[in-house]
Amino acid sequence: MSSDPEGLHERARQADKIVKNPSRYKICDGCESIVVTAAVTCPSCHSYRFDENADAVTAQARRLALRERQSVLASDFE
Ligand SMILES: [Zn+2]
Repeated sequence: MSSDPEGLHERARQADKIVKNPSRYKICDGCESIVVTAAVTCPSCHSYRFDENADAVTAQARRLALRERQSVLASDFE
């Protein structure tokens, strides 16, 4: 339960990267993590269903950047 401002900052930077290149990413239908499009299954929950809509990826990246660490951003397993 410790606050981690530097971690949040890092997530904001990663989210910015995703927002600029949404076509490189997709959203896991199972846990809402953002994963790279090359991933066959979600590294977090092993789902194989993804939303590849660029607008949805952009919106999700912005949401995750502002949220406590619940879902995984792509940098965690790149
Ligand atoms: Zn998942």
